[in-house]
Amino acid sequence: MISLSKIITLVGILAIVWFAFRLLGKVQRQRAESLRRHGGVKANPKGGPRAREKTDAADTQEMAKCSVCGVYVAAGSGRCGTPGCPR
Ligand SMILES: [Zn+2]
Repeated sequence: MISLSKIITLVGILAIVWFAFRLLGKVQRQRAESLRRHGGVKANPKGGPRAREKTDAADTQEMAKCSVCGVYVAAGSGRCGTPGCPR
């Protein structure tokens, strides 16, 4: 005969298993999301779209106007390079 305590124990075990699976799914989702947010190195070993984005940013250079002759030069370079410019 099935006793009440056995049913309660069975329900308890099922509940624990269900909660464990739910927790596992949540952890996996969070891990995948954090991986995606922090570059996805594991998911994208060769770089992927993010690496291409980086090279695009490197290709475009910040320009700065020369204070002496007014020619736009790369912001990082100290000299302007224009012939006749004292800078
Ligand atoms: Zn200049």
